[in-house]
Amino acid sequence: MFDPLIMGHRPIRERLLDRVNGGRVGGSLLFAGPDGVGKRRVAMELAQRELCFRRTACGECEGCRMFQGEVPVELPNLLRIAPEGKAGLIRIGAIREDDLVEGGVISWAHRAPAPGCHRWILVEDAHRLNGASANMLLKTLEEPPEGTCFLLVTHRPEAMLPTIRSRCERIPFRPLSAADAWAVASRAGWEEANRETWTALAGGTLRYLEPEAFQLACDQLEAWVALAGGAAFTAAAGPLLPDKTSEASQSEQVGRGLEILLLLLADVARFREGKTIRLLPWAADLERLAQSPLALEPPQARAFEALRGLSRNPAADSLLREVALAL
Ligand SMILES: [Zn+2]
Repeated sequence: MFDPLIMGHRPIRERLLDRVNGGRVGGSLLFAGPDGVGKRRVAMELAQRELCFRRTACGECEGCRMFQGEVPVELPNLLRIAPEGKAGLIRIGAIREDDLVEGGVISWAHRAPAPGCHRWILVEDAHRLNGASANMLLKTLEEPPEGTCFLLVTHRPEAMLPTIRSRCERIPFRPLSAADAWAVASRAGWEEANRETWTALAGGTLRYLEPEAFQLACDQLEAWVALAGGAAFTAAAGPLLPDKTSEASQSEQVGRGLEILLLLLADVARFREGKTIRLLPWAADLERLAQSPLALEPPQARAFEALRGLSRNPAADSLLREVALAL
């Protein structure tokens, strides 16, 4: 009854299945937890099971195949709303009539479900839902029509509008186990020789399945190591600056770099306390930083503040410079 290609989160998936079977799923669910642990995939499994030819989410049939890779915006029982553009916002156009789906999202939510199906509305990166788009959805989110269920997915629940958050039932996600994350990575072509480095950086997420993303994370880690060691910002910060040609929004890109800094600083602290470090392949760098007079709290505080302010302050370059100065 579960897609074998989806790793981890079994207790959550079992509870959701029980609720679907018992006719107890409805309203709006908020899938909240770290980025890249498969929350969206678990949300989609609900719709997949209904379209699976075996009704089990077998992961093999033509019905299941629609949920692999790039999933269409509209399927008979699923509508996907995702952020667009450089700003990475869910625009009102995506909610209003006809932009995304004939008749608009709210009228889609009110159509009768196909036999044996719900109508699932998946809102990806729900923290990007704001202003007019959010207001337009509030009433439907609060009391969706019979058979319709909103699935909001976010790794930044604290950045969501409280009016939206309070209308949802939260389903909390945790990172995957290292073994589960690596099972997905090795299926995606990662070789055993890279396991230690990949696992250390990924930390139970699937963020670095793409070799380019992994390489960038390694470069960013090394950039922070250099900056913490006293290198000049202009000389070392290259990998941290957002790539303007990338699909990802600037704030998303800068946010990832800042999270790597937090990971590094946390590990320096662990090293100083004699605890097990996560970034084992970078042990030599950590040891050097741990023995240096580097103070951890100022850059940590500055990085958290920058992460909180990211969506308001898109001047990535100066934001990173300020954080680097606190090192
Ligand atoms: Zn199937």
